[in-house]
Amino acid sequence: MSGPLPPNEPVSTVKCVVWDLDNTLWKGTLLEGDDVVVDDLIRETIVGLDSRGILQAVSSKNDHDPAWQRLEELGVAEYFVLAKIGWGPKSTSVREIADELKFAHHTVAFIDDQPAERAEVQFHLPQVRCYPAESATELLTLPEFTPATVTADSRRRRQMYQANVRRESEQESFGGPSEEFLLSLDLEMEISRATASDLSRMEELTLRTSQMNATGVHYSDADLRALLDDARHEILAVTMSDRFGSHGAVGVALVETGPAVWHLKLLATSCRVVSFGAGATVLNWLVNEAATAGAHLVADFRPTTRNRIMEVAYRFAGFTDELCTCLAELPPDSGQTQRLHITPAPRPAPGTLRLTAVPLAAA
Ligand SMILES: [Zn+2]
Repeated sequence: MSGPLPPNEPVSTVKCVVWDLDNTLWKGTLLEGDDVVVDDLIRETIVGLDSRGILQAVSSKNDHDPAWQRLEELGVAEYFVLAKIGWGPKSTSVREIADELKFAHHTVAFIDDQPAERAEVQFHLPQVRCYPAESATELLTLPEFTPATVTADSRRRRQMYQANVRRESEQESFGGPSEEFLLSLDLEMEISRATASDLSRMEELTLRTSQMNATGVHYSDADLRALLDDARHEILAVTMSDRFGSHGAVGVALVETGPAVWHLKLLATSCRVVSFGAGATVLNWLVNEAATAGAHLVADFRPTTRNRIMEVAYRFAGFTDELCTCLAELPPDSGQTQRLHITPAPRPAPGTLRLTAVPLAAA
């Protein structure tokens, strides 16, 4: 059913299902006056996909307002993050949905009862996976709709996406400077010790955030789990929220603390919160904690093609290449990693968000 995948790409999980309406999502044809209804099995499929963190959208040839109103009456409208309801080609709406979500075509599925519509989408978007309407109630049993792990954040992915849309539309309409805008968001950040149940979403985060992973090193769930009970290692989970809702887990840090030097081995933050200064806030907080403990702070940094923005964050926070005697206390590096150093001094609390953080220095 699916189109050709890019070479060497494993069969990946579908990230968004695009539904046709007439005789696919609901029984009947709205414009022909049918009293269209959603079958219970279809409803269970919609709710099931949503709980697995798979986004859903609509592509339908209909008049927009009555079709959307009917989705609301049927109690399913909230499950769709985007709806392209009109008279253009379906390949255009599926492409727009993929673009707006920033999803690769091979992670998008399209389901429609009309063979001609599936063929039209397949012709223009050969990587989109097309399914006939009869497959709708089987989707939850197929491997491509079954993510390996479902975390608390993936279950909330749709709500987080919808909150982000509201946030961005407000940002567009806000004419003030960005610091004023940030203050208007009521941003809150919490830095806490990660628990065992946090670890799989921490791993998901380091996989998803290659752009903002300062070490370019992947720590697996098992790697992090092994360090959970190690008294010298601190695994820190960063979560953020604002007045629109939660951003979920947005960062992870791994620090080995010693009496003379603290070693920051991993820092990854989600690109969703870059504009909120999340990386800089975490770094400044760590510098302040190390200053309180009287320890120097050394960060592993391996430049990759994608994490340049993280190097900027380190330099801006005051890290340098200076050679300090404390470096001799650390195990030798792999040769691919730079060691950025700072002799910490106390830092003021962040100005644009409320920070609640576990006191590391007192530990
Ligand atoms: Zn030093």
